[in-house]
Amino acid sequence: MKQDVIIIGAGIIGLATAESLLIHGAKVTILDRNLAGQESSWAGGGILSPLCPWHYSDAVTQLTSYSAKKFPEWAAALYSSTGIDPELRISGMRILPPHETNVALDWCNRRSINIQQCIPTQEITNTNVSAVPMQEGHTLLLPDIAQIRNPRLLQALHIRVLQLGGKIVEKCKVENFQHAHKRIQSIDTACGQWTAEYFIICAGAWSSEILGTSALNLRIRPIKGQMLLFKFDNPPVSNILVQEDLYIIPRQDGHVLIGSTLEDTGFDKKITHLARENLFKRALSIVPALRDKPVIRHWAGLRPGSPNNLPTIASHPDIRNLFVNSGHFRYGVTMAPASAEIMLNYLTNSPQPMDITPYQTGWHENP
Ligand SMILES: Cc1cc2nc3c(=O)[nH]c(=O)nc-3n(C[C@H](O)[C@H](O)[C@H](O)COP(=O)(O)OP(=O)(O)OC[C@H]3O[C@@H](n4cnc5c(N)ncnc54)[C@H](O)[C@@H]3O)c2cc1C
Repeated sequence: MKQDVIIIGAGIIGLATAESLLIHGAKVTILDRNLAGQESSWAGGGILSPLCPWHYSDAVTQLTSYSAKKFPEWAAALYSSTGIDPELRISGMRILPPHETNVALDWCNRRSINIQQCIPTQEITNTNVSAVPMQEGHTLLLPDIAQIRNPRLLQALHIRVLQLGGKIVEKCKVENFQHAHKRIQSIDTACGQWTAEYFIICAGAWSSEILGTSALNLRIRPIKGQMLLFKFDNPPVSNILVQEDLYIIPRQDGHVLIGSTLEDTGFDKKITHLARENLFKRALSIVPALRDKPVIRHWAGLRPGSPNNLPTIASHPDIRNLFVNSGHFRYGVTMAPASAEIMLNYLTNSPQPMDITPYQTGWHENP
């Protein structure tokens, strides 16, 4: 089978990349070893921002900010073409103490990002559920931060790719690359041998592993995150709440997600009692209304961890028709539309919306 482009991995990055290429007129096939959109992209929280953006480099900020701005139009277009509403909602994100107030205020002011310092933590709650206990110090509210329901976004994107004529082949694990003369000639998979003009690896946490020795210094590795899900009749809080590395995401229909752990334990998606207890205890101290609520689901996903949270969106230094769009670590949902645009521009030699040098260094990174 010969295709213009074969994308390896049908997570948010592979699907978004496919959509961009298909709109541009390419013939695209995505191969996934499992079912589309069932790994990290499904497991995530769908916050469209870094948790405390001032903790990250400018290279992360320019990608997440540009990408987050693309979401309203993207989500609306997906909704109208597929009938699936990804439920993009500007819910605001409130950072609870302890935080570096002055660093945060200064960082936002320098970038004209709307941030408010708020005293009463009661503002966190809706009126129908018991109040959040007062915490020492101010909270910081980023009122423009949005969230999306990533499983719905993935479903919509899946349908959109098919509507545009893309192929998604599931249960088709890519096992080996045949390369000669600085080109991939074909790939061996669980569903036969495939050839294409270009190959793009969007295999999330598995991206370096798939490449084997051709990964050079590309260091993308699995970092497990566990999440808990609760259900209320009405959302107990209105904003996304963040306290250090803990976050609480209220969905409009009363579901509440609590996350997440950061565990460097290899390709292991086991959920643990300890993580459940810790997440619950910390969330309860912020939202007492959780006390009588059962956990209705507990899961884990493997983020594609990368040094400094920087994805690699680049061609392979030695193999001319091989590309990577991976390593988005904690913010791949947020970064997806911009990363897809950058990959498309790269393949079509079009101008980029930003300096993409920081996303080209992963092959050589050796910190
Ligand atoms: C708990 C948790 C919370 C998160 N919260 C957020 C958040 O709030 N906001 C945000 O922006 N991001 C968040 N993230 C991060 C985000 O989910 C990831 O960065 C993003 O999903 C990465 O997308 P991906 O497409 O690269 O990877 P994945 O979604 O993992 O997709 C990779 C795909 O490649 C396939 N694959 C792997 N190996 C092969 C092979 N050999 N052959 C064929 N196919 C293969 C897999 O089956 C999979 O479908 C969170 C992640 C987790 C785990």
